[in-house]
Amino acid sequence: MPLGSTQLMFTKTEILTLLQGCDDDNLFKQAHAATLEQFSGQVFMRGIIEFSNQCRNDCHYCGLRTSNREVNRYRLNHQQILSAAESAQQQGMGTIVLQSGDDFRFRVQDIEQLIIEIKQQFNLAITLSLGDRSLAELNCWRAAGADRYLLKMETFNQALFHQCRPKKQFDQRLAKIKQLQDLGYQTGSGIIVNLPGMSLDMLADDIISLSQLQLDMLACGPFVAHPQTPYADEPNGNVLLSHRVSAILRLLNPGANIPATSALDALQQGAREQALLRGANVVMPSFTPEQIFADYNIYPGKNTSTAKLADRVSTIKSAISAIGLSPSSTRGDACRKNYVNNDR
Ligand code: SAM
Repeated sequence: MPLGSTQLMFTKTEILTLLQGCDDDNLFKQAHAATLEQFSGQVFMRGIIEFSNQCRNDCHYCGLRTSNREVNRYRLNHQQILSAAESAQQQGMGTIVLQSGDDFRFRVQDIEQLIIEIKQQFNLAITLSLGDRSLAELNCWRAAGADRYLLKMETFNQALFHQCRPKKQFDQRLAKIKQLQDLGYQTGSGIIVNLPGMSLDMLADDIISLSQLQLDMLACGPFVAHPQTPYADEPNGNVLLSHRVSAILRLLNPGANIPATSALDALQQGAREQALLRGANVVMPSFTPEQIFADYNIYPGKNTSTAKLADRVSTIKSAISAIGLSPSSTRGDACRKNYVNNDR
């Protein structure tokens, strides 16, 4: 794959060597130093509100796929989402992430009204993660005050993308990332590490493709096999490899926000905090209400804690402090550019 016009600090061969673990100590040390230099030890806290687990897609890796009849499907109403946002602010989150399956029952004006009210009532940045929505919708939500949009490619390998995301269009999703950037969203994308069929060579290409997009947010978490999907018997992703990916992404994209994903902890307890010492700088506790918290079951180990919300948040904050970092209640913009604050 051509490296394109953006000059990367690693060649593909070097990335492949790092992915194989040839120099982990140095890689992790450098990635952490780069993270400290950009964010001064702050870890940005995002409250994620998983407001609907309804999904029209049938992705082979995801527990929410439409063919999975064993999901207890839910949709939060307007007031429940606002209450979750209020709770996120009270618990010291600087951003909320509104995430759902690709649920088009939420119409453009429903989300618009939510954004307007959240911006009026709370001092929160808003990230949307609602899947493949139209340009008109994205435009409307940006105008209403949304700050960021996360649209993961899952892989930039076209054949692999089609293999695991039936009937979805690769070119359209990639083009949408550019449209989001043009609309002024702080834009994020990402990949699933060890997606079934992903070779190390493809993973290196994915790292290069992600880095060439000049993104504000880069998400990479390991694949976790879900029993009610076609990938039930595939091996889980490798936690250490996922850490290497976030460390390389940090060095290639020093100012980007890189979350320590919950998929890490689903596979290995403590792996999420460890990621914060290996290039990641964001954590996203769930503010999805208790009654349906466990039904956002993208993969096993997601939303399984039975602790109360406030206890979960304080445990995460303590774990961050215990490794010498500081949980931050600020909006937590990326350091790439001078952003126009979309607060009204
Ligand atoms: N529907 C929106 C979309 O597709 O952009 C956002 C929500 S989607 C349910 C959330 C993310 O979960 C996906 O982008 C994917 O990266 C991740 N995910 C789903 N299944 C996974 C699995 N089995 N292992 C790891 N990550 C998974």
